[in-house]
Amino acid sequence: MTFGAAKGGPMKHAMAGLLHLAFHPRQERFKAKTENEVVPPTALKKPVLDAKEYGVGKPVEFRWNQLLSFDACVQCGKCEAACPAFASGQPLNPKKLIQDLVTGMVGGSDSQYAGSPTPGIAVGNHSGAPGKPLISQMIEADTIWSCTTCRACVQECPMLIEHVDAIVDMRRNQTLVEDIVPGKGPITLANLRETGSQNGYDIGARYDWSVDLQVQVAQPGRFVDVLLIAGEGAFDMRYQRTLRALAKVLNKAGVDYAVLGSVETDTGDTARRLGDEATFQQCASKLMNTLSQYQFRRIVTADPHVLHSLRNEYRALGGYYEVQHHTAFMAELVANGKLTPKAAAVLADKKITYHDPCYLGRYNGETEAPRKLLKTIGIKVVEMERHGMRARCCGGGGGAPLTDIPGKQRIPDIRIADAKTVGADVVAVGCPQCTAMLEGVVGERPEVLDVAELVAAALE
Ligand code: SF4
Ligand code: SF4
Repeated sequence: MTFGAAKGGPMKHAMAGLLHLAFHPRQERFKAKTENEVVPPTALKKPVLDAKEYGVGKPVEFRWNQLLSFDACVQCGKCEAACPAFASGQPLNPKKLIQDLVTGMVGGSDSQYAGSPTPGIAVGNHSGAPGKPLISQMIEADTIWSCTTCRACVQECPMLIEHVDAIVDMRRNQTLVEDIVPGKGPITLANLRETGSQNGYDIGARYDWSVDLQVQVAQPGRFVDVLLIAGEGAFDMRYQRTLRALAKVLNKAGVDYAVLGSVETDTGDTARRLGDEATFQQCASKLMNTLSQYQFRRIVTADPHVLHSLRNEYRALGGYYEVQHHTAFMAELVANGKLTPKAAAVLADKKITYHDPCYLGRYNGETEAPRKLLKTIGIKVVEMERHGMRARCCGGGGGAPLTDIPGKQRIPDIRIADAKTVGADVVAVGCPQCTAMLEGVVGERPEVLDVAELVAAALE
């Protein structure tokens, strides 16, 4: 029916759109969220590796309802306008990508495409067919590796098309079948498999920053209210300042918490975004096995990527955890009267904006708690034009800093320019990747401080 409609002129979008809504590949989008929902709409679907589900190499390998969804595209260009990679001049245009998938499904060349081209890639040089390989023939490999998985395109798309799923499906094929991952991807994946850390660090050193802060290490058989999971950011000297600030806040509020210590291994989030589902599932089983030996009520983390994996993606593997972002947890402590932070005059006088991490906002719907917390301590947040669910990405997700596909400018430069436009002195953040990306911007720029650092300063 889709192939027939594809040749049927103007009715094709109406027909494909209606059928797409009826058979949407993410039916969970239309259901009310429940506690035990196995695959929330923002979690990638788990492929069955034993059944050789190794991603998508040719158009025919997409599920039929994914193919139908591509055909529903009305070429409005909203995804293109929202895409940070496109804005930075990297070779990715989500609208063109979806149209290339439609062309590949029907067969033919992209020479009829009339919209803005993919930056740096001329129109008319690529062609495909349902049974022909997509990468290189229809779509350049750099296109799929430029994506930060920020979901801005998915958020904007009026036809509810799932671009990120399609991109990760193609990455899976490149990683698991072709064994081709650019840049630092391969070494990172090898490190994850061999050491449980993305950079190959000694995982025993993950909590070295906490030794003078009386932070207890979790013990099997001893229940704690909160298990603090630091993630890879714990090895980064800059992010250690955030974690130290958070530990001071928890100490001050008298929270019963512990860290996992030398047994903490990576969630595997980056491996999954890079298409290495095997390494992701290996990392997830290892960490779930470790967590099963400890007793805790909830997990708190300052890393939205850790949060998203543990809260949403481990469910499909049988791991159900209550996970809170540190900003939401601190907001709860303030609301319960356990903390009474008050921003010093020096902070209250500064213009502070808040940059929403994609994996906290768009992926987990949490945009209010950090703002409420900042407001409670006396900080007035000046909003950037793109904020909340429509915030612009920092460029740090999806393994993009590892694959490092060049563009005309860097995504974090664009985000810092957003902050400068509203005259911000400080950009408040809530993610180790955002911190690293935004602090990496050279030249004069606003100070980048985690919300935990602002709260800790307001307690002094
Ligand atoms: S997820 Fe983000 S970077 Fe990737 S195509 Fe969509 S808007 Fe662009
Ligand atoms: S936002 Fe959706 S409908 Fe519009 S061009 Fe992008 S994929 Fe097509």
